Amino acid sequence: MRMILVGPPGAGKGTQAVHLVERFKISHISTGDMLRAAVSEGTELGKQADSYMKAGGLVPDDLVIAMVIERIGKPDCTKGFMLDGFPRTRPQAEALDVELQKAGVALDVVLQIEVPDDLIVARITGRRLDPDTGDIYHIKFKPPPKDIAGQVIQRKDDTEEACRARLEKYHSETAPIIPFYAAQGTLKRVDGNAAPDEVSRRIEQVLG
Ligand code: AMP
Repeated sequence: MRMILVGPPGAGKGTQAVHLVERFKISHISTGDMLRAAVSEGTELGKQADSYMKAGGLVPDDLVIAMVIERIGKPDCTKGFMLDGFPRTRPQAEALDVELQKAGVALDVVLQIEVPDDLIVARITGRRLDPDTGDIYHIKFKPPPKDIAGQVIQRKDDTEEACRARLEKYHSETAPIIPFYAAQGTLKRVDGNAAPDEVSRRIEQVLG
């Protein structure tokens, strides 16, 4: 199974990805996680990506494309993969297509999680992360248990200002990849305006 998860920031991609990779026994490739790791390790890629990420902008295509192509070429990806947060621009989608064609494989499904903008801001600004486990919480919708409440952190790009910049980028840069996949016949849509379990149920239904 080779799949892509697409949706605005805060749509629940990370949460749903956890269930999906377990269900299909595929590798989870989150470009946001990979870039954050590069930044905290201080690699050359991390140094280049840092300022774009802090501002809620997109890291340049050539950097992200090279990172993903290297990653999907690793042996664990032969059994399939889930791309979470990539592609985010039309050139990224096209570069992925070329790479998959070269490898003689194809995407099975592009799953779009749809959530209205006004909900996204509330979701993102309240989002907190446990840096030890990567578990995601929300100060209102899913408060962290007492014993870890003191250690959860807010991502640097989860402020309201950066969130609005990311939403704008989503509409201008990422939304145009949707018709590209619709034309390929791989696109499936899910309404993400519900609690995570309900969204998972809807995804199951759509995937059949
Ligand atoms: P995410 O965790 O998916 O929300 O990604 C966090 C940030 O990493 C984004 O706001 C971008 O700055 C950067 N990023 C992640 N994936 C990509 C991508 N495919 N293309 C460009 N920038 C990306």
